[in-house]
Amino acid sequence: MPTVLLIDDDAESRTRIARLFARHGWDTIEAEDGTAGIDLAFAEQPNMIVCDLLLPRISGLQVCRAIREKLDSPKIIIVAGRIYDIDRDAVLEAGGDGYFVKPLKWDKLAAVIKRPRRPRRKLTPRQSRALKFHPPSTRIKFWGVRGSIPVPGPSTIGYGGNTTCVEVRTNGDIIILDAGSGIRELGLALEKEFGTAPINLTLLLTHTHWDHIQGLPFFLPAYKAKNSIRVLGYEGARAGLATILAAQMEVPFFPVSWSDLPGTIKIQELKKMEFSIGKVRVRSRFLNHPGVCAGYRLFTKEGSIAFLPDNEPFEPLKLKLAARDGTHPQRARAQAAVQRSKLVEFLKDTDVLILDAQYTDEKYQEHIGWGHGALSRVVSLALEARVKKLFLFHHDPAHDDRKIEEMLEGARFLVVESGRQLEVEAAREGAEIWLSGPARARSLSVISHLPRSQRRS
Ligand SMILES: [Zn+2]
Ligand SMILES: [Zn+2]
Repeated sequence: MPTVLLIDDDAESRTRIARLFARHGWDTIEAEDGTAGIDLAFAEQPNMIVCDLLLPRISGLQVCRAIREKLDSPKIIIVAGRIYDIDRDAVLEAGGDGYFVKPLKWDKLAAVIKRPRRPRRKLTPRQSRALKFHPPSTRIKFWGVRGSIPVPGPSTIGYGGNTTCVEVRTNGDIIILDAGSGIRELGLALEKEFGTAPINLTLLLTHTHWDHIQGLPFFLPAYKAKNSIRVLGYEGARAGLATILAAQMEVPFFPVSWSDLPGTIKIQELKKMEFSIGKVRVRSRFLNHPGVCAGYRLFTKEGSIAFLPDNEPFEPLKLKLAARDGTHPQRARAQAAVQRSKLVEFLKDTDVLILDAQYTDEKYQEHIGWGHGALSRVVSLALEARVKKLFLFHHDPAHDDRKIEEMLEGARFLVVESGRQLEVEAAREGAEIWLSGPARARSLSVISHLPRSQRRS
């Protein structure tokens, strides 16, 4: 009797699909999360796998990729509550055989079952034990990649409309970088993952501009007494960190006050430029941005991650101010060069750099002094610092998916032109990066479904 493995955190959905297969003479085995599913796939080697796209911890795409890396034979079907074309392509890229909306229909499954796949590789029990999946101990996930204001809608669906929020999981620690509107979805996902278990996490804020804190009043874990949240950041430009965070929840802006949140929330103002979060050493540096704005570099066992969501190049601003103050341009250039070389030093050999690339070079000329990046200067900074992978970040709210892709292509062109090595991506909501492998020969994989136009070969 053929066997199907069902991987879905929703028990009802598993039961429905199991019934469908049973009617056609199939046995089922079940897993309620991705990691267990991958292990079962290796141990049992079923004929078919049906996996939900949106699983807690690791997504259906990651499950598909991990299984396909080791096993050729089982057909893998990804199912979801909704269908986007870009997801369908991503499923095929990940090694899936089909992508269907729930509820599943047998005729569609039958067509996939009939289609030939490469012959099944026979594994000894020892080999299948060796295949046991070990999720990487450091993962980065983008929950919000936009600057200034959330811009949901059809033209931003590829890269996402939420403002700044990035999750880092490393060796059991949860570190959240900034609390823009993306933190709402992250909060929902964390609660789903942890259930009644307490969540301990650190929220590291770069600064208190609204696009970096506006999601905090909607962060579900803050509303649960079981959870402990440590908020770290430097003092805001005009008031203490605690005052600013509480202010956005004051009457008449919000119905629940900061002090009424049931979770244990500790706000700690940072005084040093080097500190630790769990086993992660963090270095910080103040950036070229209005007010107090820090950039962070996190040193994990698997490599370092630098997060500089808001940062302007030094030289154009210095020159603009010099023209106003009557300073000699040569002097302004020299001052800018010193500041820049310090930043290069701060970023030297970073594995993953998430950097403000809000403006094209042309648009930046109209916005000197607004505190944000210009594409070619972003690329040259990353090149000079010998960064391994650069993520363009803090996308302009006026830039639709097409514009961001255009900028990405422009950035990649600049890298080619330089003759040097640098991988460039545009940060995309929902994309995950895994840092894995020993420090010297580590590999980076981006688990993400990229918009169609980026996959042109
Ligand atoms: Zn910002
Ligand atoms: Zn800002």
